[in-house]
Amino acid sequence: MHLIPTQDEVVAVLRETGALREGHFEYSSGLHSNEYLQVPLALRYYQYQRMLSVGLSRLLRANAEIRAMASELSIVAPATGGLPVAFGVCEAVRAKQVYWAEREHDDEPLRFRQYLQPKPGEQVVLVDDILRTGSKLQELKRLLESFGASVVGLAVIVYQPTPRTSTFGTLPLYYLARLEASYYADAAHCDLCARGAPLEKVLV
Ligand SMILES: [Zn+2]
Repeated sequence: MHLIPTQDEVVAVLRETGALREGHFEYSSGLHSNEYLQVPLALRYYQYQRMLSVGLSRLLRANAEIRAMASELSIVAPATGGLPVAFGVCEAVRAKQVYWAEREHDDEPLRFRQYLQPKPGEQVVLVDDILRTGSKLQELKRLLESFGASVVGLAVIVYQPTPRTSTFGTLPLYYLARLEASYYADAAHCDLCARGAPLEKVLV
């Protein structure tokens, strides 16, 4: 029943739920784009949350190393937006635990809740709804490593690389769909601005 959804099936769900929008958007980073994606809009429907996180967990379980350590694995999200995916993946992989990082204010570093401390040698899969610039996932990885935990993989519903996306070296990256939006560095380099398309500012 729960197979791995194809790229087209994932995109259809994102469009149907309003998670994927076309237009002319300006991100807080200053990038302009012709597409905007807010995966939590799709994840509010339980059947889609389940379909997507079970699909993602199947990709993880295909990795023999990750499958072998499943019962000891921690699934860690960089923010609450990734939690529906993290809990779905944890259940399907039969991992040990889920937790997440957060920050009080935008200019503060990511942190875990009080009394929550990753253990030295703990094996972790980072899970989020989307990988765009990857800066938050990088910060989370550094935070986990500062406790001596070891990140063994990265799993997201949508991989949407931008010109500023950081690389994670040899770390295995799993995703259900890869979306290529057109990104422009700023208004001066934006084709949509040049055409005078109305601009919408987006928060994330
Ligand atoms: Zn523009």
